[in-house]
Amino acid sequence: MVTFLSGGTGTPKLLAGSDDVFPAAETTVVANTGDDIELGGSLVCPDLDTLIFLGGDELDRDLWWGIEGDTANTHAELQEIADRAGIDGGPRYLPDDQQTGGRRLARWRRFSAVAEFMHIGDRDRAVHLTRTGLLDEGASLTDVTATLTDAFDVPWRLLPMSDDPVATLIHTPETTMHFQEFWVGRDGEPTIESVEFRGAADAEPTEAVLDALSDPVVIGPSNPITSIGPMCALDRFRDRLDETTVVAVSPFVENTVFSGPADDLMRAEGYEASTAGVAEAYPFADAFVLDDADGTALDRPVVRTDTSMDTPDDADRVARAVASALEVAE
Ligand code: GDP
Repeated sequence: MVTFLSGGTGTPKLLAGSDDVFPAAETTVVANTGDDIELGGSLVCPDLDTLIFLGGDELDRDLWWGIEGDTANTHAELQEIADRAGIDGGPRYLPDDQQTGGRRLARWRRFSAVAEFMHIGDRDRAVHLTRTGLLDEGASLTDVTATLTDAFDVPWRLLPMSDDPVATLIHTPETTMHFQEFWVGRDGEPTIESVEFRGAADAEPTEAVLDALSDPVVIGPSNPITSIGPMCALDRFRDRLDETTVVAVSPFVENTVFSGPADDLMRAEGYEASTAGVAEAYPFADAFVLDDADGTALDRPVVRTDTSMDTPDDADRVARAVASALEVAE
């Protein structure tokens, strides 16, 4: 058995071709939920959704989000109506008192549907409506995720990191915004002062997650701050990582990031934006997989391969390096 920790791009890329090395029936994937938002009354879980669509072989693999070939008629109409009415595109937060007054899981990240700032496909929206409907009927996010993975025939076990609300908030010199406003609404441009995982002190990993963390853990290439950070902000999650064998794949080649905002976020949190900084952010990691072109010297064992992943064959190659790293780490 093996447990992968996942954001929305790097670990999904690895899972897209790791089956020969890590059979799906013996694999659990734990997804970050700090990026989740409530949008127009529906809970959108970007990392869980990417994994559900990937596992169901429906993912748009150019974007690494959304369903391949999905239409977005409702989204376009929401933008069109706002445009005609002269309503500003947002992101449009619900008023402050409603940030903690509504559905508990959506705390601190509630946006209205008006002018919909995030692209939501039509079929994608049906997933969010089903998820939110089941939550409102009383199911936990863990239960709802199991229902959706059944519906999409996802081959691995998929777990949200927690059934409690944790919201990734970015503090800038001017204001505080949810990560989705920073990344989707503002292209990652605002200056980051610090990152907060609101709710984490009162949130717990689920028992299913804690069980899964007794198996060896693989952290695919991930943003250490906004994808793995929310998990590590849960004390019992972090304690388990200290106890179990952990292998991490670097999302950098030395100080060059493959994609996304990991470099700015790491610097803002006091880490070097590099493989060395990732190793510092993961003191619980027992071994690392680095790119052939990454000469970083680390204080823990390293296995090298070409870590760029564009195809399932690439993912298979990286998965083999992860398996070797697990052997030296154990
Ligand atoms: P998010 O949820 O989309 O923000 O992203 P993740 O937490 O999944 O992080 C993706 C990280 O993986 C980024 O920091 C990228 O630099 C890195 N990454 C993306 N593609 C690759 C790849 O093909 N190989 C490696 N080694 N890293 C990658």
